[in-house]
Amino acid sequence: MMKLILTSLFTLVVFFNVLAQKLDCGLSDATAVMIKQRLMQNRMLYTKQQVHDLMSNRTITYIPVSFHSVSNSSGQGAATEKEIFAFLCGLNALYIDQDIQFFIYNQIHFRVSDAIDDDASSNASSQTMDNWSIPGTMNITIGRSLSNQWASWYSWSDYIFLLKTMMTPQAKTEAHEVGHFFGLPHTFYGWEGESAESDYGGSNAPSLINGHPVEKVSRTSGANCTTAGDGFCGTEADYFSSRTACPYIVTVKDPVGASLDPDETNIMSYASDACISTFSYDQKAAIAVDVAQRTWVSNTPNGTTDLSLTSPSAISPLNNTQFGPISNPTLRLDWTGGAPWYYLEVYGTIIPNVWVPDVSDVIYRGYHYNGNSFYDLPTSNLQAGKFYVWRVTPISNYSTCASPSPYNKFEAVSSATSLKELPLEKQMSLQINSNPVTSSYISLSVYTAEDLVGTLRIYSSDGREVLSLSNEMLLQGESSVQLPASNLVNGVYLVVLTTERGLLKQKVIVQR
Ligand SMILES: [Zn+2]
Repeated sequence: MMKLILTSLFTLVVFFNVLAQKLDCGLSDATAVMIKQRLMQNRMLYTKQQVHDLMSNRTITYIPVSFHSVSNSSGQGAATEKEIFAFLCGLNALYIDQDIQFFIYNQIHFRVSDAIDDDASSNASSQTMDNWSIPGTMNITIGRSLSNQWASWYSWSDYIFLLKTMMTPQAKTEAHEVGHFFGLPHTFYGWEGESAESDYGGSNAPSLINGHPVEKVSRTSGANCTTAGDGFCGTEADYFSSRTACPYIVTVKDPVGASLDPDETNIMSYASDACISTFSYDQKAAIAVDVAQRTWVSNTPNGTTDLSLTSPSAISPLNNTQFGPISNPTLRLDWTGGAPWYYLEVYGTIIPNVWVPDVSDVIYRGYHYNGNSFYDLPTSNLQAGKFYVWRVTPISNYSTCASPSPYNKFEAVSSATSLKELPLEKQMSLQINSNPVTSSYISLSVYTAEDLVGTLRIYSSDGREVLSLSNEMLLQGESSVQLPASNLVNGVYLVVLTTERGLLKQKVIVQR
């Protein structure tokens, strides 16, 4: 079958039976040829100095990615938001040294296609993925391809198909296919589908393979590395198109008898995922040129802050407090904001009155894309007197690596109780950290359910005040306080914390 394809990126090219040969990463022969052509064309557009400037002077380029997560018409098979966020985090880690970062353009598209769920390489599937493609973005379709689960690939139509089973948070397969998207051939270009070791082990490789010149090892006399193989002198000659271990023991020699030492760390090789981690300098230069050559619909993610560095905290209800009345249809959970998106989880607890989350008791779980740092939680699943936990994960369409906040706890109550009406032990606590005290200070932990001003005093056993710190700001949550104690002689003392809510005391023994 012959096809004629015209795209804005590529000149008119004729393809014969583009999917005839199935490869590990699924790149068709025709696409492989096109990638190499594109690489060579890009190379003519920039001088070495311009490429160097492009790589050394840039700030981070944010690249919009359109994700299409495919289920079948029964609703099965889609990659979840959580899985996509995890692999985007891994992909960004593999490209950060190139100042390239990917972000989710608009939102993840959840699509339905029985064709892709069944066989992503069929003509119908290719056409569907083509139709979904959003110009000016990198299009990645994720699906199961159940009856034909052989590979992920980059298509000459400029989209990536990612087999759901190949998605991982380490994103090695993803980084490889994205490499193709940016015009990188395999390090073993020309040898796709060949078995170099079994065909040529112990002897010299031919000078042509599948019509392509075979890359020689030499980088000096007789070198052909600028055009043969992947076209990069910065990646070693590589003939190995099956997933290889590292280090890989090679007996086949190059066409003039030189020993091969392929780089198993190279992401564009077929060494196993555990081995690959890097692009060569030449490959990075080619990526930089391709990034600059393309037209992006947007380079602006909805936030560039690394959200894994901060964690949201509860505003209402405060940790360890009551929450009600549950006779209201909804109650508002409110947390410190700053992220454009959030993932909110609310769970029951395992044992009554013990704050151990029971994640199988899902009260609510969901993504929030509206920028609000609050949620009106329906009370229908809450019972008065029962304890619940909740936590929030901040997300932006670029920063998808953050961990959830620590769990916050509340007790559902049938009537609203203000903090002031709670028993004192629910509002605040005072603890001596190491007692008896053997050092020159007394270390305290103070917990308060809201910001309070307090006075700390120490009394000796005969009732004398030996230390007083007034108007101390006690911030909501747990704080550590160190009181100077070097002038206190051995003996028993009383530490007293006074606030407008009441008074807490603890006995402390100084024994040096
Ligand atoms: Zn590949």
